[in-house]
Amino acid sequence: MSSSPARSNPVILDGTATAKTIRAEVAHRAAVLKTQHGVTVGLAAVLAGDNPASVTYVAMKRRACARAGIHSVSREFPSDATQQQVMDAVRELNADPNIHGILVQHPLPSGMDEYAILAAVAPEKDVDGIGRGSLGDLVKGEAAFVACTPAGMVELLDRYELPIEGKHAVVIGRSVILGKPMALLLLNRNATVTVCHSKTRNLADITRQADILVAAVGRPEMITGDMLKPGAVVLDAGYNRVPGRDHDVGDCDFASCARVASAITPVPGGVGPMTIALLLANTVKAAESSVRRSTTTGAL
Ligand code: NAP
Repeated sequence: MSSSPARSNPVILDGTATAKTIRAEVAHRAAVLKTQHGVTVGLAAVLAGDNPASVTYVAMKRRACARAGIHSVSREFPSDATQQQVMDAVRELNADPNIHGILVQHPLPSGMDEYAILAAVAPEKDVDGIGRGSLGDLVKGEAAFVACTPAGMVELLDRYELPIEGKHAVVIGRSVILGKPMALLLLNRNATVTVCHSKTRNLADITRQADILVAAVGRPEMITGDMLKPGAVVLDAGYNRVPGRDHDVGDCDFASCARVASAITPVPGGVGPMTIALLLANTVKAAESSVRRSTTTGAL
């Protein structure tokens, strides 16, 4: 009796290397804007409260901007700041011609209406892609800016030439920043999409049908290899701190999933680095659009 053939090792979707390539492309485009148009690309972060993860993310984004030749500023507010103060800062940045992208770091302190603040970001500066206009445009299939983590995952599929059209994609998670825009992006690329969430029944029965599985849950290693279809492409957006582990872990149990998948993102080094790279790419895109508008109107 012959045993079933062992699967070959999966392709490791290397977000660190891919993000490095994207950041180099961004740096080149930023340099072109500077030399040809005298424009320095500018990104502003709005940070309210002292959430340690948010403070770390904003610092990481600033460092990434500096390396790509993007000027970055931040507007920081204490936890007890008023919504009006944050809104005023957003409006001031909207009007600042040196700022091409605005990122409102979430979560905002409780009591602030995050949706209203995000909606105040000018659509042409909404490089995080989660303002009302950007999400609406994504539904229509023509968003200028798409939320950076989902956009990063699709970019990773594209750069590894993994097809989307006609595939059954299962997205676990339906948050506004991650699961929902990811489902829409995949739908816009002609995948057949199933979205799962905390009330989904028989999750494993559904995940086993996925050609592309996206985990965006926030539960360490909840997806195991036995929940996958052999040969599935696995994108793990999860980023979970687990006591006693020396690095953050994903929503997928990497060891068992890697035995079944044909391609998989590691954590860390998969989806995470792509998020910041896409933020930079969106920002330089916003600056290029601004230059085009100014050229058309003769303002530059
Ligand atoms: P979130 O807002 O908490 O959403 C989690 C989603 O998972 C919800 O839709 C929830 O369903 C669903 N869910 C929870 N338990 C489930 C279960 N047992 N079975 C199926 N679905 C379940 O989280 P998020 O902001 O989308 O983030 C998700 C993960 O991605 C986190 O680990 C986060 O750290 C990570 N993340 C990574 C990046 C990056 O750059 N790599 C960026 C953002 C987030 P309900 O809607 O029913 O509650």
